Amino acid sequence: MTSKERFLKYVSYHTTSSEESETSPSTMRQLDLSRELLAEMKDLGLRDVFMDSCGNVIGTLPAAPDTEAPVVALIAHVDTSCAASGENVHAREVLYDGTEIVLGHGVTLGESRFPFMKEVRGKKLLVTDGSTLLGADDKAGVAEIMTAVETLLREEIPHGELRIIFTTDEEVGRGTEGLDVNALGCRWAYTVDGGALGGYEYENFNAASARVRFHGVGIHPGSAKGIMKNAATIGMEFHALLPADQVPEKTEGYEGFIHLMNMTGNVVEAELDYIIRDHDKELFEAKKRLILDAADKINGIYGPGTAEAELRDGYYNMKEKILPHAHLLTRAEDAFRACGVTPYSEPVRGGTDGAVLTWEGLPCPNLSTGGYNFHGVQEFIPVDSLEIMPRVLIEIVKSFCGDRTA
Ligand SMILES: [Zn+2]
Repeated sequence: MTSKERFLKYVSYHTTSSEESETSPSTMRQLDLSRELLAEMKDLGLRDVFMDSCGNVIGTLPAAPDTEAPVVALIAHVDTSCAASGENVHAREVLYDGTEIVLGHGVTLGESRFPFMKEVRGKKLLVTDGSTLLGADDKAGVAEIMTAVETLLREEIPHGELRIIFTTDEEVGRGTEGLDVNALGCRWAYTVDGGALGGYEYENFNAASARVRFHGVGIHPGSAKGIMKNAATIGMEFHALLPADQVPEKTEGYEGFIHLMNMTGNVVEAELDYIIRDHDKELFEAKKRLILDAADKINGIYGPGTAEAELRDGYYNMKEKILPHAHLLTRAEDAFRACGVTPYSEPVRGGTDGAVLTWEGLPCPNLSTGGYNFHGVQEFIPVDSLEIMPRVLIEIVKSFCGDRTA
């Protein structure tokens, strides 16, 4: 089965995860694809294949005879973002010649909106019908890993022991739930969950959330003078104390932000919810202090306890944990080049499951899948990306063989 055929099979599964759900996995429909992968992995001859209670599927490709190499994990996720429908995906292949592609449902895809599409002129693209996302994020990663495994076996390519891991609920920030880094028993790992072909990522945001509650004093507005404390307007005053230019819509690259996600309130109670992001650890801590300082200032004006700020760290930039193992990055670069692809690295303005695993002790950069425009109906992937990425993965796997330094 080609990588494209696998991909088209996997996108037919409806695996949208859910932010609201508290179950694990967040949606039971993800298990349909997990079960399919479980069966396919067993058919391929993988050992110790199992599905855990979160719907993660884990299996082992034993090392080829007489091959010494550290255990390496390849990881992708089965769920798709709830930002667009993932049900009844009708993928279609088009030869892109530079003219706007009419997807359907009033949606088009082309260079007027996505100038980078110049790079994929002349390529066959898999696109949607305009009513759903495609699911290349991350079923392309799943298909590419499965194809790499199948090819390693069929072509009897030397390889060390590989742990193959397909996770649920990555899109809702719960992708590593159920994974125990010690139990996985791997030395190194790669997630295959990035964008355009050739990309490898090892820098991501440090992330925290802040919930700030405001407690007011309510009284009839006619006799409120000197007594009322309006929690809603105090909340607005608080927000005005934060830097107006450190917001997502005004930052890019390495620049971090404090993003107001949600606000609710009335005279008596108000709440502002923020997320805080920065690549740089010191700037990250400074942004958290801005929140606490603004709360102190409000309490200075309106009395102690008026504002209560609760900060919670989410994940951290994996850069400092990856750079001591820079060979993971050079292996990726060399593998791309060996497959005729120019490697590039970009800081991720978000997090990855690899970042969490890295901080838990399993260094895990992220690799491209070759897809574009994730989380929307204009998502697409060039067919050749699906064929090249398995080769890239194989090159990486081969690079570990007999390498006693790794
Ligand atoms: Zn993804």
